[in-house]
Amino acid sequence: MTTTQVSRVKSQELFEKAKTLLPGGVNSPVRAFGSIDGQPIFIKKAEGAYTFDEDGNKYIDYVGSWGPMILGHRNKKIEDALKLAIENGTSFGAPTAIENEMAEEVIKLVDSVEVVRFVNSGTEAVMSAIRLARAFSSQANPNKVKIVKFTGCYHGHVDPLLVQAGSGVATLGLPDSPGVTKQATENTILIPLNDPKALEQAFAAAGEDIAAVILEPITGNCGMIYPQDGFIEKIRELCDQNKALLIFDEVMTGFRVALGGAQEKLGIKPDLTCLGKVIGGGLPVGAYGGRKDIMAMVAPSGPVYQAGTLSGNPLAMTAGLTCLRELKRPGLFAELEEKAKLLIEGMQKICEQKNIPAQFTAVGGMFGFYLMKADCKDKEIKSFEDAKEFLDLELYKKMYLSMLEQGVYFAPSAFEAGFISIDHSQEDIEKTLAAFEKSL
Ligand code: PLP
Repeated sequence: MTTTQVSRVKSQELFEKAKTLLPGGVNSPVRAFGSIDGQPIFIKKAEGAYTFDEDGNKYIDYVGSWGPMILGHRNKKIEDALKLAIENGTSFGAPTAIENEMAEEVIKLVDSVEVVRFVNSGTEAVMSAIRLARAFSSQANPNKVKIVKFTGCYHGHVDPLLVQAGSGVATLGLPDSPGVTKQATENTILIPLNDPKALEQAFAAAGEDIAAVILEPITGNCGMIYPQDGFIEKIRELCDQNKALLIFDEVMTGFRVALGGAQEKLGIKPDLTCLGKVIGGGLPVGAYGGRKDIMAMVAPSGPVYQAGTLSGNPLAMTAGLTCLRELKRPGLFAELEEKAKLLIEGMQKICEQKNIPAQFTAVGGMFGFYLMKADCKDKEIKSFEDAKEFLDLELYKKMYLSMLEQGVYFAPSAFEAGFISIDHSQEDIEKTLAAFEKSL
């Protein structure tokens, strides 16, 4: 039941019906507003920086379909390109010229990617990259199949990585979801973010058996956490010393924090990179790619099987390619970051005035903020464990509902990042700040 005064009557009716048809009424769990008031808004349409719900309410949208909408909703170039593409058919299950063009673009933009394979989602990209990394690393030693994962990083609903966050140092993971078997996660090693000691211990204990380390290099799935100085360098060093592959999951950060992703920002080259979200320009596209010698193991050039009926379909490639080409406009990422900083610096000032401990981060078109408990003034959130301990979830919920009522749509969870688009105007940001001040 909604607690806001803005009408959500149609959304309520639709959700009641949806609950009889879809598990929990949704096709992806966070959409159900479970950590807010359990009453999602049903979106009817979107345009530029705004979404409109079924009750006719307009929102400044900082969710952006969870990342892809970096050019705003209904970008004209993408829409026009799609209209043309659709006249030639939507999927052939056969090679097309546009797949070459798209691959060339990705390889040009993402420094570490020499060869790329397109799939349909971020989950698929990660699942395939993990299989490939294990196949590559275990050539020398059949036991080299363990994967190091960081608590709080989300890599899609891939069985071996769907592991409970918050476990102790370098413990073997326990399944996070019923249905994920113990066998699926017994080769997953969990480590807190920004804890080089735990990482060293894990490698000291099991280095010979570690096939790969995977992480969101700038983390966006437990709020937004920027890596501490030297942490990613340490991971790279330990991977090299132990002949383990480094996988950057850039599904969220790719073409979002910078044109070349987090690896460009941080100046570190992974061996494999997973991509999603922005790469599809709003259509379902994922990709994984990296070093030529590793990618050569993917079928049919090598023995690691991975396939997809709709992979690389011309509609998805058209939207993705048009989006990537648009993102190359000089100054675009600086402009995005300026907007994101205007927003978070304004929010920070408001929190300071109101004496609310808070933490803010923005890189390119991605931002994050933590509203913390009153007694956490001197605390810094560097890991998922910190976030769980210091966040004031009740305050987030109250702020959230007030913002929604005032026409601002943030992610319905305190543990998510925010996304700004090139279409967000200064006026939108000023309105957001005024609403934020009122909400607190
Ligand atoms: N990896 C990261 C870092 C993500 O943020 C997500 C989704 O939010 C995924 C993987 C999974 O991508 P998808 O939802 O497209 O399967």
